[in-house]
Parts: sequence; C-alpha cells; structure tokens
Amino acid sequence: MKFTSASLLLAALSLAACDTKTATTGEAASSSVTVEKADTATDAAAAETSGTRATSTDEANATPAPDPTTIPAGKATDAAAILARPQVPILCYHQIRDWTARDSKGAKDYIVPIAAFKAQIKMLADSGYHTISPDQLYAYMTTGAKLPSKPIMLTFDDTDLDQFTIARPTLDQYGYKAMYFVMTVSLGRPHYMTKAMVKQLSDEGNVIGSHTWDHHNVKKYQGKDWETQIDKPTKTLEEITGKKINYFAYPFGLWNTQAFPELKKRGFVAAFSLAEKRDQQDPLFTIRRIIASGYWSPKTLRNNIVQSF
Ligand SMILES: [Zn+2]
Repeated sequence: MKFTSASLLLAALSLAACDTKTATTGEAASSSVTVEKADTATDAAAAETSGTRATSTDEANATPAPDPTTIPAGKATDAAAILARPQVPILCYHQIRDWTARDSKGAKDYIVPIAAFKAQIKMLADSGYHTISPDQLYAYMTTGAKLPSKPIMLTFDDTDLDQFTIARPTLDQYGYKAMYFVMTVSLGRPHYMTKAMVKQLSDEGNVIGSHTWDHHNVKKYQGKDWETQIDKPTKTLEEITGKKINYFAYPFGLWNTQAFPELKKRGFVAAFSLAEKRDQQDPLFTIRRIIASGYWSPKTLRNNIVQSF
C-alpha cells in the first residue's frame, strides 16, 4: 500500500467529520449532504442557474489579476457588500488516484479516480467554466470587479504528488489554473510534492496557499502553535515561490472567530473553509468550498456546483 501517511490523514479527516457532524463543520459530513441533494437536481435547473451567477464578461479573461494589497481596507471589512454578491463556485480536491481495496468508504470522498477527475474537468470546460485566481476572487468579493463568464476556482489541498503528476497536465489541456494549499511537513516525502514542484506550479501561474505545517486543527492552537503551524510554513512557502503568500485554508475546514485576527495579523487577506455557512462578520475568512467527491459523475458535480453556491 503506497499512501500510508495519506491514509492516516484521511482517517483523521473522517474522524474530524464524525466529531462535528451535527454542526456540519466536518468535510465528509458536508460533502455527503450535497451528494444527496444532487440526485434530485435536474439538468434544466443546472442550465438555468449556472450561467447567471457571478457578473461576467469574457474580456475580463485577459485582465491581469489585481494585487489584493492595493484594495482599500474598508472594502475588505464591508461584510454586507461581500455577502450580497453571488458566491463563485470553488472546488476542493485532495488525492487524484484510482481507488484500492484498502480505501475506506469515507476516504473515497477525498480520492478522485483518475478517469473520474479527467471527466469532471472536461465537463467544466465543456460547460464553459473559466478558472479564476484567488486574487481575481478577492477583487470580485471586495469591489465587485468583473470576472470571466461562469467563473470557478479549483483548489487542491495537502500537497499530494498526484496533484502535480495528474491534475496539473489535465488542467493544462484546458488552460486552467488552480490554487494549491500546501502542508509543508509533507514536502519532499514519498507520494507528496517536492519544493521544486511547488515552485514550478507557482511559476506556471498557479497560486500557492498556506495549509499549516502538519494539518493541526486551527481551533486548538495555543501560544507557539501559531508560529509552528502558520508563521514558519508560510515563510517556507514564500521562500520556495519567491512570492508573498496571501491565502490560507483551514485544515479539515474547521475555524473559529478567534483565528481571524491571528491570520490577519500575519498578512493573510482571506481564508478558505468548506461547505459550512460563512461567518456573517468576516466572510473573507470563511470562503466556502465544496469537496468534489470521488463518487461524483460529471453530472453530479455540475448539479452540486449549481446548488451549493
Ligand atoms: Zn487538508
């Protein structure tokens, strides 16, 4: 069995999901809710709503992504204006590989078989979705800046090697870019990306985000944990990419409001959670994503995109 440490992580993810099921803060809990909903959706509903979400023009495709630090602070704190804008769909992937006999039922939400992944991405392209960068998303959320038609953001968590070997060339076929949330403890380990791969992804126009050192739950940080889990790994990613790291993703999608000032103090402009409702005071630090499940057909994914955002 190859993915030993990854399997442990998946087991941890499943446990976290079980612990928090009633609050719908767990990754697995949230994604299974959307699976059920998807089966009742119709193609007509998908077609009707998917083309009319966030504001758009195709010419915006050519617009360079704005630097989030140039946007006035007041815009970032205007929660009502941010919440009033339609949400851009954001997908979250983990492993892209074929299932093995040892993969648990719950783990398969986080492991998308290669053919299924390629079919999901092809569906996005065939449906006219355009991938956007987190800087474009931030400008849209804070100022209403225009986005390309049918915008979507693709995110990959946890540094798995197949994100480089499988996802990257697949996305390249369609001119798609993505955001990679890197957990630095794994860099260079077997079955995980190396620093050189992360650098290459960044150089090729993808954006690298911080995802802690070793995936500890942000809600439990005390004292030095902020240094270990946030400061040092973020500095490592900045050294690797040569760029400032502006975005963070919560391990397990779990957050509390105490984390917001800590993240802001460290220069992050936004943070990504999972399917749970956004914080009403700080929507930029609870940007929603859905896990694109390994069980989902392209059609189910499309229905979930429409229904969840
Ligand atoms: Zn993660």
